[in-house]
Amino acid sequence: MNQKSIRKTLLAEFENLLGRSDRIEAHWRDEAPPADWSELAIHQENDEVIDSLDERTREQMISIKQALRRMDAGEWETCTGCGSEIQMARLEALPTTTLCVSCAEAREH
Ligand SMILES: [Zn+2]
Repeated sequence: MNQKSIRKTLLAEFENLLGRSDRIEAHWRDEAPPADWSELAIHQENDEVIDSLDERTREQMISIKQALRRMDAGEWETCTGCGSEIQMARLEALPTTTLCVSCAEAREH
């Protein structure tokens, strides 16, 4: 895989996430208020799940956007930690990463 095909994959993934967040927003808009308190508790639980999904969706969208920007700027393959080149195998597996293997490992420990 090269950068061009990974870029396509990221754009498709971004569209996917965008569709998901649209559905989540539709859920918030269309949901009628619950009739009684026991129902309200269930509704709140569901909304928490959707809320956290929404946040994760947003985070994923942000990291994809950043990766695309880094591609545009020609910085996609450059590690933000040490400035060396990120291995292509790593970028193929983790296209939104900004760190090379050794910087990522250093951060984990
Ligand atoms: Zn590095």
